[in-house]
Amino acid sequence: MASFPVLVLNSGSSSIKFGIYEAAGDQRIKLFEGAVDGIGTELGKFWMKDGEGRKIIDETPALPNRAVAFALVSDALHSGKFPSPLAIGHRTVCGGPSISENQHITTELIDEIDSHSALAPLHTPIAVYIMREALKLFPGVPNFAVLDTYFHRTMSELVKAMPIPAEFAAMGVRRYGYHGISYESIIHQLRPNVPEKLIVAHLGNGASMTAIRNGECVDTSMGLTPTGGIISGTRTGDIDPGVLLFMLNKIAETGVSAKEAADQLETLVSKKSGLLGMSQLSNDMRDLRGAIDDGNVQARLAVDKFVWTIQKWIGSFVAELGGLDMLVFTGGIGENDIASRAEMCAGLEALGIRVDAERNNVRGAAVISAADSRVIVRVIPPAEDLMIVNHVMRLLAEQPSPESALEAQIA
Ligand code: AMP
Repeated sequence: MASFPVLVLNSGSSSIKFGIYEAAGDQRIKLFEGAVDGIGTELGKFWMKDGEGRKIIDETPALPNRAVAFALVSDALHSGKFPSPLAIGHRTVCGGPSISENQHITTELIDEIDSHSALAPLHTPIAVYIMREALKLFPGVPNFAVLDTYFHRTMSELVKAMPIPAEFAAMGVRRYGYHGISYESIIHQLRPNVPEKLIVAHLGNGASMTAIRNGECVDTSMGLTPTGGIISGTRTGDIDPGVLLFMLNKIAETGVSAKEAADQLETLVSKKSGLLGMSQLSNDMRDLRGAIDDGNVQARLAVDKFVWTIQKWIGSFVAELGGLDMLVFTGGIGENDIASRAEMCAGLEALGIRVDAERNNVRGAAVISAADSRVIVRVIPPAEDLMIVNHVMRLLAEQPSPESALEAQIA
């Protein structure tokens, strides 16, 4: 069967991750992956690994801006050492209110996504930049936007709506939800045995949870931006709006412009809060667990707040789903932090959740519920890049012809 190299581009607020996958029939083989991390710093990271996980590039370049960062990726991809992609998939955090379907990227689509960058100011500008660069980098190769919000498109209007004046709702201010490609990849891995009532907790540096009925999203913790929902590494999660006004007034007292005040507030709620802000130590769960072992009270409070918030969300999702068949943990903390899983499930016996301490003593995929637990509790690592490749292959198959794809792209 002919192999088909697909490039996956995944930009974060200060990083660009990329991978080349070979798609042959139903098979997906990772050929290479890499990342440029620390955009905006003097000491960034640039690494690449082959499909077996061997490092082939490991550098610490200065990364003053995204252009310098993307040039490293572009030079590596054009070095002749890697197969040239025949299609490119872009992880797209949010396309705005009118774009809920994954689709072929045209210059009009990029303009449309760009016009809503105020809805996801940390993610959309860099994603849009990379889309434009990728079109130039591999002329004639079709590019596709694969949205994190796509999985959440099935949420009802009731769930999507926010209790704000209608004029702001008309601007696209509503709940979108994120980590959707991770959630889809969990459903993909559960097939054909997707339970009717499922909660997935994606607990990484960014953390969210989703309630799923028969494989479709019913509700999710994140809202307009990834800052909402449960607390995470550096984000507040949902918070009393009065706290934002208090902070804004304090910032305004320093005499900065309105734009500067908004930027400072953004930094406070997105980069300086959550586990980092509460512990005053780290956003990394491994550091916090070490500090707790050493008796650090602030680290204990931060982790307890994280666990407590998640338990509350599990409770509300069980109410929303009308019961629960399965709870899945994923993401760096969900997969690896044995103590967090044990603490989150402790006290949820009334909901039918019972974790077996011995089974829970694992890192990576496992069933961790006790034999007599009514709810099955599992750990499943996400497979986001593979999901993006799957969408690209599906969308390519739906393209009328390669010529029309090219015409649409240069239109
Ligand atoms: P992610 O954003 O999915 O890469 O997850 C990052 C989070 O996973 C950080 O808080 C890490 O501390 C946490 N994590 C990764 N490995 C471990 C581990 N072995 N034990 C506890 N937490 C871990």
